[in-house]
Formats: sequence, C-alpha cells, structure tokens
Amino acid sequence: MIESRTAPVASSTQDVAAELRARSCFVMVSHVKPDGDTLGAGLGLGIALKRLGKRVHYFQQDPVPRNLRFLPEAEHVSREIPGDLPADALWVFCDMSDVGRAGEHLPPIRRENILDIDHHLGNTHFGALNYVLPAECSTGTCVIRLLRELDAPVDAAIATCLLTTVMTDTGGFMHSNTTPEVLELSAELMRAGADKEAITEEIFANKRVAATRLLGLIVDKMQFRLDGRYCYSYVDDAMLAASGADGEDTEDTVNVLRGQENVDVAALFKAYDGEIRVSLRSRGRVNVQAAAGRLGGGGHFRASGLTYNGTLDEAVAAVEAALVAEGL
Ligand code: 5GP
Ligand code: MN
Repeated sequence: MIESRTAPVASSTQDVAAELRARSCFVMVSHVKPDGDTLGAGLGLGIALKRLGKRVHYFQQDPVPRNLRFLPEAEHVSREIPGDLPADALWVFCDMSDVGRAGEHLPPIRRENILDIDHHLGNTHFGALNYVLPAECSTGTCVIRLLRELDAPVDAAIATCLLTTVMTDTGGFMHSNTTPEVLELSAELMRAGADKEAITEEIFANKRVAATRLLGLIVDKMQFRLDGRYCYSYVDDAMLAASGADGEDTEDTVNVLRGQENVDVAALFKAYDGEIRVSLRSRGRVNVQAAAGRLGGGGHFRASGLTYNGTLDEAVAAVEAALVAEGL
C-alpha cells in the first residue's frame, strides 16, 4: 500500500514540528479496534492543528467505540476520505507499530506523506517521519512533546483527549508506566481543563450489564496452566449471543485474568467475527511483546496482541508454546 522510496529514519521533535508547521492539510489515522490512545492522540493533535489554522480530517476504519464517543470531535471520525484532499496532505498514524494496524481501507499513500507517531517497542518505522518514543506511556504523551515544540496552546478539549490517552494506557494510573512525570503531566492536563470525571466514568466505570454477564461466562471458562503462572480464557460467538454483549465489551477482561493471584501471564482468545484475536498481559517478568512477535503480533512488554489463523485449539497451543519459549 505504501510506495517506499526514502529510507526509514527516527525523527527529532524539531523535525516533526517543522513538518507539522509546513503542511496545511492532515489526516489523523487511528488503528482498527480503536482504543483511547490511538483515538485520543489523533483527536488531540488534530484539534490543536485546527486551532493553528490547518485543515484536519480523521480516518478510522472501525466505528468509534461506545465508550469513546464522549471525546471532542469524535463525531467527525470516519472511514470516508474527502474527494478534494490535497496531494500533499500529511497522514499521521497514531499508536501503530506497523501500517497494517490501520486496516485495509486506506487509499495508496506515498511514504513522504506519512508521519508515524508511536510508543510501541517494535515499531517498523514505516513513515518518512517516525516519531517513536518507546519510553512514553502513551502516544498522546508523544503528541504533548510536539505541541510544546509548536508552542500550541492546550485547551480543555485537547487536554481531555490527551488525558484519555494517558489514563487508557496506564490503566487509570495503575500500570508500571505510571511514572512521576506521567502524574505531573496529568496534573497539567487537568489544570488545562481535562474532564477527568468524564474519562473515568465513560472508560472505566460505565459498564453495560451485558458486558458484566459476559465477564461471568469468561471467568467460568478460566484455565490455569504451568503451576498457575498462566491463566487463559476465551470468548466465542455463542458466549456473545448468550450474554447480549459484543466485541467492545471484551476490552478490559484480560486484566481480570492477569489479576488472579500467582498469575504471571494471562491470555484472552477472542474467537468471533470469523477470526481469532489474542490479548496478552504480563505481570512484568515475561515479555509478551516478544511472545506475540513469534506469532506475527506485537505491542508492549506487558501488553500485546495478535491475530491467529487457525482453530481455537491451535491458537491456545501456539500461544502457550510462544509464552514458554519466552520464559513463562
Ligand atoms: P489489546 O490486547 O488491547 O488488543 O492490545 C494490547 C497491545 O498490543 C496494544 O498496544 C496493541 O497495539 C498491541 N497489539 C494488539 N494486537 C496487535 C497486532 O495484531 N499486531 C501488533 N503489532 N500489535 C498488536
Ligand atoms: Mn498506546
């Protein structure tokens, strides 16, 4: 899909800010099965660029999930590409380790028109500009660095988008990526008017009854292996039908499995919609990014995912083997 001529490079904050200043039209791109980081980073940067007088569109293959519809400008996100998009529009991919995570609905894009902003370990540097900072807790905090360099004011709408990225990727300030700097940055965003109440309520508190019923079914199927260090479960079409839930309702469930005592690694196999998606979470000893990488996926040391081509039983066996190979 991408015509590649230039060699991939890591870009400095100054280089990326200069490119953002130089261009006049942008398409912010978020990944399939969007979460609060990919969408919050794109919206936050997009709104800031609009305030600087730029033209901004938001591309996302999948619809905005129910729990993210409160985000400012979320109503402008779609998979439609405007017919009059200028040839030099900059496509800004947020929170994607490789370009395939954007889905199959993108038009051909020249590499010189791609900016890749991300914090994943295994980012493939698929853009002409690659602003990849694996030490950052979220893609949104990479965006904050760019906004500072641009001297772009952060208003309440932008702050809400960016605090959403932080709270999503730190699990509400609970994961190990919650550093003192992250808390300071979050305080700044709250002072700028970020609506922390709305973020907490929409993303963490406001669960549908069907989602909780589905959680019950998933917990019922929990299996413990490797002396209890590994916990996994699954969701299939029948379980979705029985609970009245849908794929969006499985978002946080793998963390419940990971939270069981003595569990080092948890996996949730999502076997519906004709594919098997696997979510992996680690307590910190085992690198689940490397384990997912063995099966064509990726992510972070403690949180990763992959799509498996095969049956559920084959997926369960392959994932356990990959985890054991990574030291589980
Ligand atoms: P989740 O389990 O929430 O879907 O994903 C956890 C992490 O793994 C996220 O950082 C996500 O970007 C990454 N991830 C999930 N699925 C894939 C995949 O198929 N490929 C890659 N490279 N990363 C993935
Ligand atoms: Mn992220």
